[in-house]
Amino acid sequence: MFGHSVKLFDLFGFEIKIDASWLLIAALIVWSLSSGYFPQVLPDLTTTAYLALSVVAMLGLFASLILHELAHSLVARRYGLGIGGITLFLFGGVAELVEEPRDAASEFWIAIAGPAMSFLLSGLFGLAALAFGGVGLVGIVLAYLATINLVLAVFNLIPAFPLDGGRVLRAWLWRRSGNVLEATRKASGAGTVLAIGLMALGLFSALSGGGIGGAWLVLIGFFVLNASRGAYQRLMVQESLKGRRVAELMTADPWTASPEMTLADVADRIMLAHAVSFVPVVAGGVAVGYVDAQLMRAIPREEWPAQTVADVMAPLDDACVVPPRMTAEEALKLLAEGPHRKLIVAEGRQLRGVLSLRDLMGHIRVVQALGRGASPR
Ligand SMILES: [Zn+2]
Repeated sequence: MFGHSVKLFDLFGFEIKIDASWLLIAALIVWSLSSGYFPQVLPDLTTTAYLALSVVAMLGLFASLILHELAHSLVARRYGLGIGGITLFLFGGVAELVEEPRDAASEFWIAIAGPAMSFLLSGLFGLAALAFGGVGLVGIVLAYLATINLVLAVFNLIPAFPLDGGRVLRAWLWRRSGNVLEATRKASGAGTVLAIGLMALGLFSALSGGGIGGAWLVLIGFFVLNASRGAYQRLMVQESLKGRRVAELMTADPWTASPEMTLADVADRIMLAHAVSFVPVVAGGVAVGYVDAQLMRAIPREEWPAQTVADVMAPLDDACVVPPRMTAEEALKLLAEGPHRKLIVAEGRQLRGVLSLRDLMGHIRVVQALGRGASPR
């Protein structure tokens, strides 16, 4: 259901998109307003009238959510941060920041802008509702929008990362300690506690006959839990690798094979003898390819003594060779998203080393174990 977003229009240069899951929410809102809320506060209307009112209210909520995210996006742009677009999905909206805020002050202002907009909208809708005496078709819809914006503002200010309030909390901790990783860990921790609380409350409510409301809380809790954990882990990896180059983290001077070696020799004298499953092939001082366990497995074992490395090796392509000066973050991206589990590090075609995900993770673990919060700059 997630990931199927459709672009609706551009607003101030931002792409406004809706995820398929938002249609579900829109339908749920229209259904609950037209069958519950409006018949209660405005009796004696036709079903069509209730439906029409509910659609108008839903569109008002839709606009309110977009304005909330637009406020985040405009402030982020003012601080020079890239914004991918605004997407409305199951739990509201997200302004997709391409990069994280660079300091506590920008984090604070970007985070607070959304709830500030919702408070402002709540006030404006409230005043407009008052102008209509808070009654009648228009007055009731305006009062509803005033309330829903107030709820949005307050809910988003809950100090649990990644909600806006959690970002405000993170900005405050970040400013106090100067350590963004520690600040994120604490704010995410608050998010995790809130998420588990919501899920427990939802479960309790569902078990004691609360029905759909309870299931809803469990779902929101699950979302907050995932988002808070993911945010911290992403930042931890990023901070641990910051300023690091492939040359520092690779396994230098790896065991290599020559093209004329037999596969039996590669297996016995290199792979088994030195516990490596990935072997660069070097000819005349130049890296020309690699053999790994997967390539070996494809050849029947009885043919290993007769077959040579040159017969089976994979040639080098751009996706598996990286320069030693590449940043560790870029290399991680390649390893995580590219087709190769191991990278050959070469300067020109001169083999310098091999880089695996394990090398990167090992470094991250050591940085964490040392408790420095971040690698030395
Ligand atoms: Zn927000």
